Amino acid sequence: MAEGFSRHKLNPGWVEVIVGCMFSGKTEELIKQLKRAQYGRQKLQVFKPQIDDRYSEDHVASHNQSLFPSTVVKSSFEILSSVEKNTQVIGIDEGQFFDDDLVEVATVLANSGKRVIIAGLDTDWKGRPFGNIPALMAIAEVVRKQYAICMVCGEPATRTQRLVAADGDILVGSTEAYEARCRNHFDPELSLRLAKIQSKKTKASDITQANTL
Ligand SMILES: [Zn+2]
Repeated sequence: MAEGFSRHKLNPGWVEVIVGCMFSGKTEELIKQLKRAQYGRQKLQVFKPQIDDRYSEDHVASHNQSLFPSTVVKSSFEILSSVEKNTQVIGIDEGQFFDDDLVEVATVLANSGKRVIIAGLDTDWKGRPFGNIPALMAIAEVVRKQYAICMVCGEPATRTQRLVAADGDILVGSTEAYEARCRNHFDPELSLRLAKIQSKKTKASDITQANTL
């Protein structure tokens, strides 16, 4: 698997992860780091998973629309096969949506002398550690934790509150479906309660319909 990426002795690479809840500016921070590398005339490549098609197919975009050209890939190993030999910096957005192989891929790339910067959600809508991100935080040289603002109290927020009825673990959306909350105001059960209320309403309207027929 490590073919073509031998360890670079004079210029060792490293792994950086940028984590936090939604609206914590992870993608902005990723774009900032990439722009700095670009000013430094370093060759960079940016990847994101196919699942995230909001705003732009082939760009990394933050909620405030700052754009950076990127390659959409279906799997972690596709990153490895797409990285060019002279690339120095590799940016990966929405890291939590990649498979677990991203840990191995980041390791191989860093061992071969490349700087790998991965942005991703550290917890999911239930407040649980999200997919491969905890493992990436463990192997990374640098972990940057970003904070949003709690929409209830204005304190720093670390959790992503889902505001709509639960329907599966992955719900790609932005302002209307989620908001940032602090630990005190985070309510992981809210989405499940909304789903219950909705199903009761549906049943009630079925009964009303049956009665009128
Ligand atoms: Zn709060």
